[in-house]
Amino acid sequence: MLKLQNISKQFDGKTVLDDISFKIGSGEIMSLLGPSGSGKTTLLHLILGLTGADRGSIVFSEEDLTHVPMKKRGFNIVFQDYALFPNLSAYDNIVYGLRNKKGTASEQEVKEYIDFLELTPHLNKRIGELSGGQKQRVALARTLVTKPRILLLDEPLSALDGVIKESIKQRIQSIAREFKLTTIIVTHDPEEALTLSDKILIINQGKISQFGSPQQIINQPDNEFVKQFIIKQLLIKRQNIYNLFGEMYAHA
Ligand code: ADP
Ligand code: MG
Repeated sequence: MLKLQNISKQFDGKTVLDDISFKIGSGEIMSLLGPSGSGKTTLLHLILGLTGADRGSIVFSEEDLTHVPMKKRGFNIVFQDYALFPNLSAYDNIVYGLRNKKGTASEQEVKEYIDFLELTPHLNKRIGELSGGQKQRVALARTLVTKPRILLLDEPLSALDGVIKESIKQRIQSIAREFKLTTIIVTHDPEEALTLSDKILIINQGKISQFGSPQQIINQPDNEFVKQFIIKQLLIKRQNIYNLFGEMYAHA
């Protein structure tokens, strides 16, 4: 279980996170949902240990991690831009984090992750030769082989579209289920959050707007911001779909 209590963070005197508290259970998928600039990435980096909090505590499995450095927390992240090494092959990227490290995947396990993500045909390719979806799978594999206790993903779907986006989404879900891996996903897209996660933390201007299951958020939005944010985005989607297919329907 991961528990954050009263986490606050300022940058240059400006409050970016304000009194954030929540709990998620082991193996759950949580989405951190909010508009651009609401503090999602900062919160993810705080959990990872890349950024320190000004106030509050982070506890994982009864262990107080608030002052534990990133390397000792045992969490890992897929950054929004993947941060892959362009001069290395896909395979060398995947195993990069394994050099002289205890508690990481064995050779057999590395192979299993590669199979699971269907990367075998691409292992010798350079990063520049991979498609967006393939890069994302390499980034996922590189993080998974370090056997993190929590998997953190920053906007893992935002650079992808259509069928590829759907397939990566399903893979993230099955990774969390199959490996019983607690997973936190940053997104600005309500549809992604609603269809991907067990819990959603909606943040707006650094404050929690609502925390609950997708059903709770849809059926009982806590406030006007949640209603507006969710409904507006879903309506934009519907409009886009209509623009794409409306003509076809009109003539059907
Ligand atoms: P999101 O991921 O939701 O788009 P961020 O967490 O990246 O939002 O940023 C939240 C706010 O904090 C923004 O106003 C951003 O400019 C500011 N911010 C983020 N990182 C830093 C930093 N290292 N120094 C100063 N300001 C920052
Ligand atoms: Mg961000």
